[in-house]
Amino acid sequence: MRNLYIALMIFFIAWLIFSVVNAQGVLLLAKPSLLLQLPVQHIFIGSGLILSLLCFTWASAMRSYSMVILALFFAVKALSILVAGGISFFGLFTHNIYLLNTELLFFANLSNMLFFSFTIKLFSLKKRGENSYQLLLGLAIVMTVMVPLSYVFGDRAATWLLTQIPISISLLALLYVASTVREEKRRLTKIYSLILVVQLSFNMMAYLLYYWRFSAQVIHGLDMVAFWFMAIMVNYLMGRKYYCHIRDEKLAKQQVLASAKASDLVQKNLLALQDESQEQSENRVQERTLELNIALQELEAVNQVLKEKNTLDELSGLYNRRYYDEKIMAEFRRSRRNLTPLSLILVDIDHFKNVNDSYGHLTGDKCIVEVASMINALLRRGTDVGCRYGGEEFCLILPETDEKGALALAQKICQSVSQQYILNNESVIDLTVSCGVTTYQQEQDVTPEIIFDRADKALYKAKQAGRDQVQVSKIKLL
Ligand code: GH3
Ligand code: MG
Ligand code: MG
Repeated sequence: MRNLYIALMIFFIAWLIFSVVNAQGVLLLAKPSLLLQLPVQHIFIGSGLILSLLCFTWASAMRSYSMVILALFFAVKALSILVAGGISFFGLFTHNIYLLNTELLFFANLSNMLFFSFTIKLFSLKKRGENSYQLLLGLAIVMTVMVPLSYVFGDRAATWLLTQIPISISLLALLYVASTVREEKRRLTKIYSLILVVQLSFNMMAYLLYYWRFSAQVIHGLDMVAFWFMAIMVNYLMGRKYYCHIRDEKLAKQQVLASAKASDLVQKNLLALQDESQEQSENRVQERTLELNIALQELEAVNQVLKEKNTLDELSGLYNRRYYDEKIMAEFRRSRRNLTPLSLILVDIDHFKNVNDSYGHLTGDKCIVEVASMINALLRRGTDVGCRYGGEEFCLILPETDEKGALALAQKICQSVSQQYILNNESVIDLTVSCGVTTYQQEQDVTPEIIFDRADKALYKAKQAGRDQVQVSKIKLL
């Protein structure tokens, strides 16, 4: 379609040039009276040509399809006015008035249709205004059909009316179209409608002149004035459109820039918030860790107390049986590893049953406590461990202590207990203890149970031998 318009454009420019030659040549010879009009018409042809070329240049500079159509419109409109003024291709055949009429209607209607086409492009009617588009299409078809009919019906006067009426109808139709254009294109419609109104006024004036029987030259002059009004106004319209286009672009760019700035700001705020919340959560983690550490320390202290409670004998304050079992195993291993002697003393209160029987269980308990404190007082080394094994029996673990040392300690305990008295109300309780001693010195196949058993046997021996004494059991001899 675009190529067709360009081809038409070239054809009409050639046509204009040809018309000038024609006007100066053959036609002038045929109608010498036209000579008077020549300067005005020459100016009109030349300026029409320049206008058309200008539009064409604009079209290629702006890459605007509607400008191409406009260029064609001006060319065809100029030609139609020239033809109405009598300068035409068919002027060669001046005897055939009907052919001239056909040409007249052809150019007039073609210029109308080109203006339709320009309007369709200007307001993008093909895409949006379905009704308007169809109306203009219908009118274009009617005008196309009218062209050959003019040859059959028209004499010159009738043809003049045949050209003017479609122009008036077209202008009214275009006015209606302009009123239906959508909001975003409205700002151009004011200028556009003004163009139409001015053209309609000229059109009406032409009718009046025709009615009052003014000469054809006067009407022709009016046509030319109308043409130039239109040319100036349409060019202003296009300039305005271009200006609006540039302003819209600038506005859009500014909006894009503003929204980019806004999104940048939002992003920065977001980052700041993220930093802040990260800092907050770090602080919270630190606080929690501190709280947790304090809780752990407290828990450890409680555990320590619990452990001590678990390992101590409540009555005597010495270690309990459970602790003995753990400790003897640990010390046994250490002794075996370090090749150091490990001694064990079993202490049992003599005839304790009698104490219970004579003074009661409470006094019996008191005696257990007293004996325990006597034993504890004699345990000088930090590594020595005194346990209450059960009832009135005590078991002493003596790491890195040989038989001699253990025996000496056991004898001290015996002495200490037998020398001291326990006061109970008015009575005095005189207690003695028997001790069994044994020493482990990494002998083969010995276990902590065997060590205890040996000490127990030694204790039994002490009891048998008359109590209040110490007996030693040698593992290696067994
Ligand atoms: P021996 O050891 O000299 O052979 O005579 P014993 O009377 O001490 O012998 P036995 O081991 O048979 O008696 C131990 C008594 O110790 C039995 C029980 O009444 C008493 N006994 C055990 N545990 C406790 C305790 O925790 N408190 C009191 N008061 N008496 C206890
Ligand atoms: Mg006993
Ligand atoms: Mg006893």
